[in-house]
Amino acid sequence: MVKLAKEQNRYCPYCKKHTLQVLKEDSKGKSNVLNKRFRHRQANIEKGYGSFPYEDPSHRSRGRKSPTSKKRNFHYTCKECGKSNKPREAMRAGKLEIA
Ligand SMILES: [Zn+2]
Repeated sequence: MVKLAKEQNRYCPYCKKHTLQVLKEDSKGKSNVLNKRFRHRQANIEKGYGSFPYEDPSHRSRGRKSPTSKKRNFHYTCKECGKSNKPREAMRAGKLEIA
């Protein structure tokens, strides 16, 4: 369990100084059924290409356990200028609590 403060005093690249910023987790995007990558993958699943790709992504690594944590995407919104910025690297966590 990772607990993060909802309001943090962080550097804002737009104001170029430390300001109070509100943390918000990004919503999960829908998979685009019509996009080329999705159709290509779906065709490979139906036709079969060796043992890849797996329909269920957790079967990707055989012999190994499927990961218990996942990448969390969130962004900070500056209270002074209203612009939002993202941290450079996505954080990995099983459970994320914003308080
Ligand atoms: Zn700002």
